[in-house]
Amino acid sequence: MSAARPDFLPFARPEIGEDEIVEVVDTLRSGWITTGAKAQRFEADFAAFLGDKALHAIAVNSATAGLHLALEALGIGPGDDVITTTHTFTATAEVVRYLGADVKLVDIDPATLCIDPAAVERAVGPATRAILPVHYGGRAADMAPLQAIAGRHGLAIVEDAAHALPTTCGGRLVGTLDSAATVFSFYANKTITTGEGGMVVTRDAALARRMKTMRLHGMSRDAFDRFTATRPSWYYEIVAPGFKYNLTDIAAALGIHQLRRAHAFQQRRAAIAARYTAALADLPLVVPPGPADGDTHAWHLYPVRLTDEAPLDRDGLVERLYAAGIGCSVHYIPLHQQPYWRDRYGLDARDFPHSQHAYERMLSLPIYTAMRDADVERVVAALRAALA
Ligand SMILES: *Cc1c(COP(=O)(O)O)cnc(C)c1O
Repeated sequence: MSAARPDFLPFARPEIGEDEIVEVVDTLRSGWITTGAKAQRFEADFAAFLGDKALHAIAVNSATAGLHLALEALGIGPGDDVITTTHTFTATAEVVRYLGADVKLVDIDPATLCIDPAAVERAVGPATRAILPVHYGGRAADMAPLQAIAGRHGLAIVEDAAHALPTTCGGRLVGTLDSAATVFSFYANKTITTGEGGMVVTRDAALARRMKTMRLHGMSRDAFDRFTATRPSWYYEIVAPGFKYNLTDIAAALGIHQLRRAHAFQQRRAAIAARYTAALADLPLVVPPGPADGDTHAWHLYPVRLTDEAPLDRDGLVERLYAAGIGCSVHYIPLHQQPYWRDRYGLDARDFPHSQHAYERMLSLPIYTAMRDADVERVVAALRAALA
């Protein structure tokens, strides 16, 4: 798209610096390009970033893989159900089906677009094993009531933190809350990127051990461990039918340097969000709420919703922005609208009024560190022109 139109402002674009490039080249020259020393360093750096010595950080090749590993390690399987939000990407829910368990989708809080704790409480049944909240757009989900519900019913919490690096909740970084596991994404458009990649963190040593084993074929020791062993080391045991979810050192090389920039990236995205919020205040738009007092919002997304007073609808506004050379997106087409989820569970949009209402009126504006101030002003001007 951007190649065909040099002036096109894409919806998202990673910011890859010289440090990332040098580290990738160093990896390529090193003789070890799959999971090894750099993936281990990225894991150690990630745990240090979160600042909690009790955390195990496990690098994986996607957040989807991480969510799958976390639920598998918790023993979730056929006959169980997991509660999550309808207002998310399908990856959040599909991993539950990988394990033969079922998904209970619930509606969102209309202000934050995060999972509604009251709807979670109503959905808990005898087969419920876990709650899977999403920190939508980079704003922390309402974790305290979710933790209370989980405590009362003996449920695990696995956080989908694909948008939430760095995000705080009650002053604590997401990743250090009291959940069974928290999963971050380093997909190309996320707040830091390794192209494809993810990280699972947990304080539970047994859970960490199971996830590490299942990350690489159910092997009792990994290839790098054998490569660096001081004695002949051809022997390993297969203890489970595991997966192929390890992160390569090439990807980890990117992650090591992206992580160092995570706070600066967040500040830049927060500045863009603040500019949008100030500049769009008088337009017929609902802008996203900032973080709770004292908290940090990762600002992965900046979703706006058209009010009923707007002179055109969402699809019309997307077309106007595109005509002005601006890419935008929609987060999300709710899962209850997707044929697989709708048909499997016989879902009706009327049971998800807040998600449905938001979906019909929302679009996500470009918000990324590679945007210049002039790019932000161009988006503002195009919105003003379309909505005047
Ligand atoms: C991106 C994303 C995922 C999946 O991340 P991958 O690393 O691409 O597997 C999961 N959940 C949400 C909410 C996401 O935005």
